[in-house]
Amino acid sequence: MATLMQKIVDFRSDTVTQPTPEMKQAMLNAPLGDDVFGEDPTANLLEETVAERFGKQAGLLLPSGTQSNFIAMLAHCQRGEEVITAEEYHVFSYEARGASVLGGISLHPLSSTAYGAINAAQVESAIKEDDSHFPISKLVSLENTVSGCVQPQESIREITTLAKQHGLNTHLDGARIFNASIASGIAPAELANGFDSVSICLSKGLGTPAGSVLVGDHDFIRYARRQRKMLGGGMRQSGMLAAAGLHALKHHVERLADDHQNAKKLATAFAKIPSLNVDLERVQSNMVFIQPDDEELTELAAFLKTRDIIISRQRLVLHLDITAEMVDKTISAVNDFYE
Ligand SMILES: *Cc1c(COP(=O)(O)O)cnc(C)c1O
Repeated sequence: MATLMQKIVDFRSDTVTQPTPEMKQAMLNAPLGDDVFGEDPTANLLEETVAERFGKQAGLLLPSGTQSNFIAMLAHCQRGEEVITAEEYHVFSYEARGASVLGGISLHPLSSTAYGAINAAQVESAIKEDDSHFPISKLVSLENTVSGCVQPQESIREITTLAKQHGLNTHLDGARIFNASIASGIAPAELANGFDSVSICLSKGLGTPAGSVLVGDHDFIRYARRQRKMLGGGMRQSGMLAAAGLHALKHHVERLADDHQNAKKLATAFAKIPSLNVDLERVQSNMVFIQPDDEELTELAAFLKTRDIIISRQRLVLHLDITAEMVDKTISAVNDFYE
């Protein structure tokens, strides 16, 4: 089964990775305790390690990135308050609007550039004055990377500074922030600077089976821990997941550069095929977007499937389980299709 799985080249997401044998071993060997009692030494170590890496006081291990963002919004906002974000960002478009449905928090979506950026002027015009006709603007939530694009630090700095001037808190959905760090050469703590909280996924490019870490100051994390329990996210011997995270922090961060290089190679080859409409400028980390028409995409996907290559839509994601050889194989297969 394992060898069969490894033969398949799966571009659907960087969440499809299998934990490596070394990661599994680290999970088996982890010292464990009841994390709801605060007694899991491995979970505690992961939380401290991630917090330190991002220059924050404390961290909290959560089952998923969605829960992490949701808890961050609950911790920053009361009912009737509002999050300013972008329409394309995960918190607005892909979390079933949980903050509104369950938290009574409204979201104000701004439109971003093709590379996922919003600017300070947009944010400023979205901040409501104190008037009973409007929700109370309370949080600005940004994302990095956005669909593989690394966000410009200068613009982020302007937005977080503006938010502070207006008394708003700031959250960063950094599901793939290690990709942003490796692609830009900017340290995680620098990318997190100016944000009150940051959410980091362990189960995307880092390749663990599950888990996200939310970081922020002590009071914020104390409140978030309470919300986690209330939402049913309190896990017991969660050190097994934390051990996978600690292993990934040590062994799977620098290697993200390989994914980025593979993405560039794939995109450069695809760019030679006019109907794929590849924008090379958009290839900044581990994602490649192709834009053939729907019928062509369906035919291409069906053809690739016969070669054990899976693409589900316009987005191809590079990860731990896609080697340079698999990228070469994919390039040949795509060239065969178009010949
Ligand atoms: C995947 C993702 C999330 C949510 O993570 P899950 O663990 O799938 O809930 C949040 N934000 C971004 C940008 C993501 O890519």
